[in-house]
Amino acid sequence: MGDNNCRSAKWREQTRMVHGGTMRSPFGETSEALYLTQGFVYKSSSAAEARFKGEDEGYIYSRYANPTVTMFEQRMCQLEGAEAALATTSGMAAVTSALLCQLNTGDHVVAARALFGSCRYVIEKLLPQFGITSTLVDGRDIDAWKRAIRPETKAMFLESPTNPTLELVDIAAVATLAREIDAILVVDNVFATPLWQKPLELGAHVVVYSATKHIDGQGRCLGGVVLSSEEWIEENLAEFYRHTGPGMSPFNAWVLLKGLETLPLRVRQQSQSAARIAELLANENSVTGVIYPGRQDHPQAELAKTQMAGGSTLIAFELAGGKEAAFAFQDALEIIKISNNLGDAKSLVTHPATTTHKNLDEDDRILLGISPGLVRLSVGLEDVEDLSEDILQALNN
Ligand SMILES: *Cc1c(COP(=O)(O)O)cnc(C)c1O
Repeated sequence: MGDNNCRSAKWREQTRMVHGGTMRSPFGETSEALYLTQGFVYKSSSAAEARFKGEDEGYIYSRYANPTVTMFEQRMCQLEGAEAALATTSGMAAVTSALLCQLNTGDHVVAARALFGSCRYVIEKLLPQFGITSTLVDGRDIDAWKRAIRPETKAMFLESPTNPTLELVDIAAVATLAREIDAILVVDNVFATPLWQKPLELGAHVVVYSATKHIDGQGRCLGGVVLSSEEWIEENLAEFYRHTGPGMSPFNAWVLLKGLETLPLRVRQQSQSAARIAELLANENSVTGVIYPGRQDHPQAELAKTQMAGGSTLIAFELAGGKEAAFAFQDALEIIKISNNLGDAKSLVTHPATTTHKNLDEDDRILLGISPGLVRLSVGLEDVEDLSEDILQALNN
């Protein structure tokens, strides 16, 4: 079945992203095959019986597993250094599955307050429907995590860097707290990308991605993935996944496999361009603040150095003129498009206060630093000179 070993580390990252997890059919195709099938047929009744008994390893039904999806999962394992993975329809299916599969009525979750909007819905609204309580803390404050722990705390959840203000959470410190009380730390690693941050190496138990973002990186399909130890996936997620149906479609897995081939190249280029643009923004008078994890003036620059291998493809910055200036800036851009998405080959700009974070109370927004003048920029693959010129003309419009 080809190189099907999640832990294979004999090649360097870029090589693994091109070849890792490939299972060639007897036709010997160069590119990964797309197994667009719901089910599988058996040679005989006893072969079907053996497969259902688990005596034979083959596939049964694409809600459980599919060869193209397996290839994507294996390649993700190789990128993340994880033993096992299950791919999902979207990043939110990954987050919801990773939490719901392991929690029971009466359990408690500690999570960082600065989260992707839908993640806050899962923690603040969905989990309580099942009698699972939570405490939201300032993720930067390790003592706040400590104080929030209760005897019934079973899981912790965070995102770092955060959306949209690119704050960092000390993953190793939170992982240590979680391990002391036998709780499971789940890290949403979307903003860091698998290239710049490896939460499992920092002590987290579970990593989730929205593959919709950098992993596709070309704006085509939604996807997600949950990665962890073989033991955790088997004991917590596998049965939940098979019977509730959040599994990724083979077509999306195929697109995302091709995305992984170029992920390191794209993320490196986009991060390099983002660093250049952050510098340009920092020198503009109409910009009152620039937040970029790769910069020395990031409030947590030291932590960025210890837990991240690179900067980010995203920049947050504040315009002196508030909402009016932010809207005028966005509307004047010619190359950069207005969109709430990120991690794309196309540079995208968002005004979080009126879009992605509009559902938060004003107090919450202020607490999170989402001011009316805050703009989030996802830097794409265009020529950085063109992007710089576009930004300057829009700022001076
Ligand atoms: C986009 C995103 C998600 C949700 O992913 P979908 O694929 O849109 O469901 C979750 N967390 C973060 C940090 C994201 O950026």
